[in-house]
Amino acid sequence: KFIVFEGVEGCGKTTQMHLCAKWLEDLGVPVILTREPGGTELGRELRRLLLEKSEDKPVGEVTELLLYAADRAQHVQQEIKPHLAAGKYVLCDRYIDSTIAYQGYGRGLSMSLINQLNHIATGGLESDLTIWLDVNVEVGLARKRGSEEVLDRIEQENISFHRRVQQGYSELSSQNPSRIVAIDGNLQPDAVHQLIKKILGDRLLN
Ligand code: C5P
Ligand code: MG
Repeated sequence: KFIVFEGVEGCGKTTQMHLCAKWLEDLGVPVILTREPGGTELGRELRRLLLEKSEDKPVGEVTELLLYAADRAQHVQQEIKPHLAAGKYVLCDRYIDSTIAYQGYGRGLSMSLINQLNHIATGGLESDLTIWLDVNVEVGLARKRGSEEVLDRIEQENISFHRRVQQGYSELSSQNPSRIVAIDGNLQPDAVHQLIKKILGDRLLN
């Protein structure tokens, strides 16, 4: 099964993926954790190019879109498909909806171009379930800014950019109710984890 975690900065994806992986492993389910950008060796190079601070050498919007697509193409081919074929549960931090939300809603790039690139990169592979951690944008950014992490290039975008991204996720989840489940990411980590366990138990583990 292919399970994707999505959401704006500070929504708790990484924390929840790890809690979820631990829970599945304890049930005896074989799990692989991966992420975009950066799920392959080539992807880690692309992640660095995409996210490092570069005021003097800005990354163009279309360039950015193509680099995320290249990262995804390599990731699907080299990691996701082989693990799924081997019967693993693949838990992935971000996938096609990130591109729709960030490059589509956030940057305003053409949705038909984005959908085409997503299709080329994935060969049509969709998640079995996408968990959208729906956090208030201010709450998410405050979590990031309160942490020790250095903010990346995207995290430094203005608040209206992040609000557009959030709106993108919200529309995607209402348009794809069977694939995307919204979970309240403002709750405490353990409460969020309980909700995710319930959803996976109901939808994927029986
Ligand atoms: O959440 P994570 O740390 O994996 O995301 C890395 C960065 O890449 C985030 O700042 C996110 O906003 C950005 N990103 C993006 N467009 C994508 C995927 C990720 O701007 N399609
Ligand atoms: Mg993260």
